[in-house]
Amino acid sequence: MAPTPERYAKIRRVLSKRQPTLTVLMDEVNKPHNLSAIIRTCDAVGVPEAHAVPPKHGTLASFEGHTYEATSGSAHKWVKVHPHADAVSAVRELQAQGFQVLATHLSQRSVDYREPDYTKPTCVLLGAEKWGVSDEAAEAADANIVIPMFGMVQSLNVSVAAATILFEAQRQRLAAGMYEEPQLSPEELHRLSFEWGYP
Ligand code: SAM
Repeated sequence: MAPTPERYAKIRRVLSKRQPTLTVLMDEVNKPHNLSAIIRTCDAVGVPEAHAVPPKHGTLASFEGHTYEATSGSAHKWVKVHPHADAVSAVRELQAQGFQVLATHLSQRSVDYREPDYTKPTCVLLGAEKWGVSDEAAEAADANIVIPMFGMVQSLNVSVAAATILFEAQRQRLAAGMYEEPQLSPEELHRLSFEWGYP
């Protein structure tokens, strides 16, 4: 069934704000509600595609169950998730595509998450709830970033950390005018308008 003119206008409006040069890589994030919440934030910020290394004891398909869909609203329909075998090779693949990879990881070289230039093609690497980002993946990344913490607890929930960082990226990109002109190619805009309009 053809979309109504209002629906089609909304689809075009949303796609015109998509930021193909911003993404996340989730390294064995294993709680479906966290993965879903991250995907929902990706949609809100305009991240069209995300990346994930599935947890060792599961597959990405297991995220397509009830919890995933319930927590993401319908966001999983609008953000494509690409699976990867392991974090280090995913980091290298994204770097080869021109992304700077920022690992959320406390190390000697960590900087405040507000320091990097998020107007560059950027991938934010997020770690598993229990183990965080591995040292190997953090070393392979271009920079390590942290959200300063002043409480008794040592870390944030991974979806909260993702939202904090992605909205800083959104702030910088808004200031740079990156939401004013479509960032998707005309071909991608056309393809996705059709895909979203005629599911
Ligand atoms: N014990 C783990 C560790 O030492 O890394 C804690 C992992 S934390 C619960 C899960 C993920 O949330 C982290 O890998 C990171 O992606 C993100 N995160 C949590 N707190 C953060 C912070 N203060 N700065 C940046 N990322 C953070």
